[in-house]
Amino acid sequence: MRSHSDVVIVGGGIVGSSIAYRLASEGSSVTIIERDSIGNHASGFALGLLNPTNETGNIESLNHQSFSMYKELLGPVQEESGVDAQVLTVPHVELALEESEIPELKAEVNRIKAFSEFHSTWLEPADVRKMEPRISEDIYGGVLVEKVIMLDSYNLTLATAQAAESRGVEIVLGEATGIIYEKDRAVGVNLGGDRIDCDAVVLALGPWSGTAGLWAETDIPIVPQKGEIVRVEGLDPPLGIHIHGFTLGSSCSVVQKGDGATWLAATSQDGTGFDVTPSGEALESLSQRGMRMLPELESHQLVLHTACMRPVAPDGDPILGKIPGKDGVFVATGTEGKGILLAPVIGRAIADLVTTGETDIAIAEFGIERFATG
Ligand SMILES: Cc1cc2nc3c(=O)[nH]c(=O)nc-3n(C[C@H](O)[C@H](O)[C@H](O)COP(=O)(O)OP(=O)(O)OC[C@H]3O[C@@H](n4cnc5c(N)ncnc54)[C@H](O)[C@@H]3O)c2cc1C
Repeated sequence: MRSHSDVVIVGGGIVGSSIAYRLASEGSSVTIIERDSIGNHASGFALGLLNPTNETGNIESLNHQSFSMYKELLGPVQEESGVDAQVLTVPHVELALEESEIPELKAEVNRIKAFSEFHSTWLEPADVRKMEPRISEDIYGGVLVEKVIMLDSYNLTLATAQAAESRGVEIVLGEATGIIYEKDRAVGVNLGGDRIDCDAVVLALGPWSGTAGLWAETDIPIVPQKGEIVRVEGLDPPLGIHIHGFTLGSSCSVVQKGDGATWLAATSQDGTGFDVTPSGEALESLSQRGMRMLPELESHQLVLHTACMRPVAPDGDPILGKIPGKDGVFVATGTEGKGILLAPVIGRAIADLVTTGETDIAIAEFGIERFATG
């Protein structure tokens, strides 16, 4: 273990790995401290959908910027690591499962078309079933978004971390237990009895970020939100599209991924703390929702059922930037259900802040200062 790095990053999920890759590419020496193993939590068990068109609001432009960055990044990261992220480019169809959804979904077509990299059209029910005859007959049409990306989030996180290693990043398996300061300047990170000296610390602990707030004397208001995914046997011939719809009180994605399995994703449950036990209720509800869209799934056997935690801030937006009152301490979390998509843009923004003190990426409104009281 190196005794000094320019930057120590706590957390080896997609967020920490992406920041490390960017910093190392710009010449910084970096250590990632990871308590379990790389991509062992949400970053390794996410659906792996990169679709910047499915969200509006103040995060929309970062989503699109990050998606564009992926087009440049995926090749080099897989090549440098030798890890295949199982990248598929697939059409996305947002299904109208109730007649009342038609006007709102039709309006989406024009909103999405405004982004030059996406083509979108309204499909009548017969057009949807022409694309995929196994979709339920009980539908009212759908919005087609051509060419979203689907990948394996575990392989992507591993690829990013290993590509970072190939650029000199050191990965240390251990639990960070605090930040060492001289006055209010961070000069190191404690790992139990050991320490690593550094000039800057990046807190990328995902749902555990609240603990790191204690090290920075700042409230980092992040809570875990449990999310479960069910994988069943693949379809033959394979399902070539990603379908999504709102049914039985919630949303559901159905997609056949690079591993050959059909994934039904995902649940969102608040108030369960750090419990990641897969539940019978989630299995039942995801199966029902999947079968509502693709009835033939009824005969497909379960392959895997996973649960992990999204890191969620009170307003649902990420928390990105410098910790006020502390020199050399930065935070990157609160990515909720879009951390895989946002990783490249977060990587660049935080690397810019650490190395130059500023960034041209529009993250000002995502600073932790927005939660300050009084
Ligand atoms: C069911 C589900 C589906 C999802 N699908 C998508 C999707 O399709 N597309 C998308 O963009 N996003 C998706 N997401 C969201 C995405 O997975 C998360 O936003 C993202 O993985 C968060 O990454 P992270 O690196 O911040 O956190 P994590 O992956 O949780 O990593 C944090 C790391 O910090 C480590 N750590 C914690 N404490 C310490 C310590 N004291 N010392 C050392 N290490 C420590 C942990 O061990 C962990 O490895 C999904 C999430 C869920 C739950």
